[in-house]
Amino acid sequence: MDEKTTRTVQKLLANPQKTVVVGHKNPDGDAVGSCLGLSIFLNSLGHSSTVIMPNDFPNFLKWMPAVEDIVIYEKETLRSHELIAQADLIFTLDFNSLDRVGNLQIPLEKSAAKFVMIDHHQQPADYAIATYSDVTMSSTCEMVFHFMDALGKAENISAEIAINLYTGIMTDTGSFRFSSTTPTTHRIIAKLIEAGADSAYIHQNIYDTNSPERMKLLGVALNNLIILEEYHTAYITLTQKELDAHNFKKGDTEGFVNYALSVKGIVFAVILIENKQENIVKISFRSKGNFSVNDFARNHYSGGGHTNAAGGKSSQSLNKTVSEFISILPRYKDRLTHAF
Ligand code: 5GP
Ligand code: MN
Repeated sequence: MDEKTTRTVQKLLANPQKTVVVGHKNPDGDAVGSCLGLSIFLNSLGHSSTVIMPNDFPNFLKWMPAVEDIVIYEKETLRSHELIAQADLIFTLDFNSLDRVGNLQIPLEKSAAKFVMIDHHQQPADYAIATYSDVTMSSTCEMVFHFMDALGKAENISAEIAINLYTGIMTDTGSFRFSSTTPTTHRIIAKLIEAGADSAYIHQNIYDTNSPERMKLLGVALNNLIILEEYHTAYITLTQKELDAHNFKKGDTEGFVNYALSVKGIVFAVILIENKQENIVKISFRSKGNFSVNDFARNHYSGGGHTNAAGGKSSQSLNKTVSEFISILPRYKDRLTHAF
């Protein structure tokens, strides 16, 4: 975090503040970990902080320290409105634009509080008095560590904070394997382990708590995998019917797209998941090398994210979405062939 942003934040936190910490819709490990880590930290400094998430998150995150204190906007709308109305400061974490929080956007835009953004997504919007944005960062959790360090308060990192930050760095880096993982990431991880984050315990809680239904659904997804060799592309589809037949729960399809990306020679992997309730097809994009799925998602699927991981949606049927997707690929053939 640069000096100017640090000074701004120091001034904002000079006296006890009522703060709210907000993550993006469909919160992932990085959103939950960064919001909880920062909120526990702010409380340790004498501020009064609450985490609000737009909607619920997967069960495999529900063991994280202080997770029971999170207010979910969809479930506790009135309480969320009150907290936002009373807040002096609102921290927005792990997203780059207020349209990433669903209906929570409305009270946030009405709020008179000052905003602080901490985020690693591309093209950050300009709504905050302090914007700490760095697209080279592995995760927002890594940035929250730098934030605490810049304030000279790294010694306030308790085991609870360390576990939250470790979890977000681990999930956003695919357990430290994506190219965003740097020597600094590993140094921070070492400090978090020293502060009380037990690596094996966290890995088990996240990765070894699958339901049998989820494993069967993964079988269906792998069976539906299509390889388009010419375009170095692989995609997976899942229909609502397939989800229903496996008692689908939020988060069950997390990580499936990485299997498509793991096929030799593939640089572009996609999963398209039918969501009858929202009447959309939710799409996740992953890539290797310099093929930008952020651009692809922005250009065609009103989405975005990072160079190698992005998301978007389509309001067409699943079949139509797939055929349109395939029809777009020839335009990208050159970029898909020269990703390295
Ligand atoms: P996932 O595919 O795991 O849902 O998301 C991958 C990345 O893309 C994450 O960083 C996520 O924040 C971002 N992302 C996912 N869906 C959307 C979307 O609809 N719009 C934008 N702008 N970003 C998204
Ligand atoms: Mn993130």
